[in-house]
Amino acid sequence: MKIGIFGGTFNPIHYGHLRAAEDVREKLALDQILFIPSGNPPLKTEDLADAVHRYEMTRLAVEGNSLFRVLDIECFRPGKSFTINTIEILLERYQGSELYFILGIDAFLELPKWRQTEKLLSLANFVVLSRPEYQFTELLASPYLDIKQTSLRSLDTGKIESFSLKLRTEKELVLLRIAPFGVSSTDIRRRVKSGLAIKYMLPEKVEFYIISNKLYKQPDRKNKK
Ligand code: ATP
Repeated sequence: MKIGIFGGTFNPIHYGHLRAAEDVREKLALDQILFIPSGNPPLKTEDLADAVHRYEMTRLAVEGNSLFRVLDIECFRPGKSFTINTIEILLERYQGSELYFILGIDAFLELPKWRQTEKLLSLANFVVLSRPEYQFTELLASPYLDIKQTSLRSLDTGKIESFSLKLRTEKELVLLRIAPFGVSSTDIRRRVKSGLAIKYMLPEKVEFYIISNKLYKQPDRKNKK
């Protein structure tokens, strides 16, 4: 089996995440996508909904799609979860399967800050997705990629749709251009705070969940000017 792993805060999950997952599933012929909402960090920021809510919203968003599943392996664990531990658990659970860790360009650039990155790159394949406002050429700054600027530029301009390469660890890394969906969780939270509509940005069930649980309503003191 080929399994996609899509981790994130999902604060909240929106159509950008869902379309991205569906695009990857189709283009890489994955058998299943597992959504893994992160847990509560030791120092929780004000606009981060509790892990229970983020898990529930993700569950509602993928309900009815048998190829999408939500796992609670990070969100209900006390303390900070590290992706390396999550991948090790999944390799044990899905023995014989190939894992494809899915993340946006912005998230891939953060990789040097992750725990045991080299080991992580030896355990799973990686799929790096285009995302509005980010360019593949930004990946030239990544210490984990050895790729020509011209190839990255061809992805940015749409000349090519995808680019695959073998990592030093022998795992595969796929750079994938997906249809842009300019929605972000940050924007959704800002809109809720300002009393603006979030309709058509995320599944209706998630929208109702946010409203009925009064999520993201608190003024964000940290970002207040
Ligand atoms: P925030 O706005 O709160 O920072 P986020 O969407 O960047 O939210 P996550 O929920 O952690 O943060 O994102 C999970 C993953 O989804 C990340 O790898 C991110 O790059 C990717 N992602 C998020 N939105 C999009 C999008 N519109 N298109 C493609 N990838 C996306």
